[in-house]
Amino acid sequence: MLMNIDQQKDDLENVKNSKCGEIVAAPLLEHHPSDLLRMLILTSAISMLVIITLSTFGFYRIFSGFVIESAEEDSVDLCEVMIDEYRPFFFRIVAASDTYVERSDNAFRKIDQGLRRFLKPYQIVKIKVYNSKRKVVYSTDHKIIGDVDSDNTRLGNALTGKIDSRLEIKEKMRDLAEEEIINLDVVETYVPIKDQAGKIEGCFEVYQKVDKYRDQVWKGVFYAMGILFVVVLGVFSCAYILIKKVTDRLSLFHDYLGKIAVTDDLTGISNRGYLFKTGSEQFHRVQRNRRKKQPNAHLGCLMIDIDLFKSINDTKGHLVGDQIIRRVAERIQTGLRDYDLLARYGGEEFVALLPDTDFDTSRLVAERVWNCIREEAFDVDGESIMVTVSIGLSTFDDNDDDLNDILKRSDEALYKAKHGGRDKVEWI
Ligand code: GH3
Ligand code: MG
Ligand code: MG
Repeated sequence: MLMNIDQQKDDLENVKNSKCGEIVAAPLLEHHPSDLLRMLILTSAISMLVIITLSTFGFYRIFSGFVIESAEEDSVDLCEVMIDEYRPFFFRIVAASDTYVERSDNAFRKIDQGLRRFLKPYQIVKIKVYNSKRKVVYSTDHKIIGDVDSDNTRLGNALTGKIDSRLEIKEKMRDLAEEEIINLDVVETYVPIKDQAGKIEGCFEVYQKVDKYRDQVWKGVFYAMGILFVVVLGVFSCAYILIKKVTDRLSLFHDYLGKIAVTDDLTGISNRGYLFKTGSEQFHRVQRNRRKKQPNAHLGCLMIDIDLFKSINDTKGHLVGDQIIRRVAERIQTGLRDYDLLARYGGEEFVALLPDTDFDTSRLVAERVWNCIREEAFDVDGESIMVTVSIGLSTFDDNDDDLNDILKRSDEALYKAKHGGRDKVEWI
C-alpha cells in the first residue's frame, strides 16, 4: 500500500529530528546520497576548469587567427604595391648573381630609402627579399643581406607559391630606422614574387608589428571567458540546486529506511536483527580484549519477559497489550545506561546488552530495571495496570563461542525465574 503523503512527511521530519545514537541507521547503499552530491560538485569543478582552460586556448586561437589573417591581407597588398612601384628593382636583384654590388649603388640607396618611407605608416618593422636560391638579396636590415636561409621550410613553401603567415613574439628586432626594439608581436608573412608569366622568381618576408592587437586579443579572450564562466556557473548552479533538492530528499529516505531496518516498529527500540549484529560485534570485541587480558572486558546480558502477559491481552485486549509492551520498553530504557543496548527479542520479551559490565554491576542494573517496572502501575486509557517482569541474567564467559551462548544462558536464567514464581531476577 502507498504511504500517505502527510505521514511520509512526518516520518521524514522524525528522521531529521531523531536524536543521534538512539538507534543507528543501517547503511543501505554503498554511497550515501550526500556523497553523490559531493562527487557532483567535484566533477563540476573539474569540468568547469577544463572547459574554461580549453575555451581560453580556443578563443585565443580564434582572436589571434583574425589578427594573422588581417596582417596577411595587409602584407600581400603591400607586396603587390611594392612590386608595382619598384618592379625593375626587385626583378633585377632577385636575378642578380652578386647582391653586394647593388648595395654600394646610389640608385639602390634611393630605392632603399623610398621603401622605408613607404613602409613606415603600415606598422612594418622589416622586410626581406629572397631570390629563388634562398639568398637574402634585399632587407631593410642591411646586415643580413647576403645570408642564405637553407633550412627554412616556410620559405621553401613560399618559393613554391604558397602565402604563409605566423604570429611570433620577438625578443628583439631592428626596425626600419635600424633601431633595436624589444618584446614585440609580429606577423611574419611570406609572399611569393611572380613574374608576368606567373613564374616564381623569389619571395618577400614581411614583418608586421601587431602589438596594438595584443591587448585587444586578451581583452576579447577575457570578456568571452567572463561570459562563458557566468553561463557555465549558472548552468552548474541550477543543476546543483535541483540535484541538491533530490539528494536531500534521497538522504532523508535513505536514513529513514536505514532506521526502520533496525527499529522495532511497535516500541521504537532496536529490533532483533540489530541486536544480533551489534551484539556479535560487542561479543567479539570483549573476546579479543579478554585474550589481551584487558580490564573491563565484560558483557552483561539481561533477558526480560513480562509476567503473565497473555492474561493482560485476554482481559484488556490486544491494543492495551500493545501499549503495555511499548510502555514497558520505555521504562526498561530508563533503568539502563545510555550506552546499554535494548532490543525487542520477541512478543513481550526484551534483551538488554550491557557493554563492559561485570556480573555484580549487571545484577545491579537488572534489579534496577526490575524495580522500575514493578514499583508503579501503568496508566493505560485511565486504567491502572500492575505489571511485573522476570529477568534472566548472564555475563560473558571465556568458554563462550558466540553471542548465542550468552543469550542461551540468560534464557535459562529467565526460565529459572519463571519457575521460581516470576517477578524476580535470576542468573546463571
Ligand atoms: P509468562 O509469565 O510465562 O511469560 O506468561 P505469558 O502469558 O507472558 O507468556 P506467553 O508466552 O504464554 O504469552 C505471551 C503472549 O504475548 C502471547 C502473545 O499473544 C502475546 N503477544 C506477543 N506479541 C504481542 C504483541 O505484539 N502485542 C500483543 N498485544 N500481544 C503479543
Ligand atoms: Mg511472558
Ligand atoms: Mg514470553
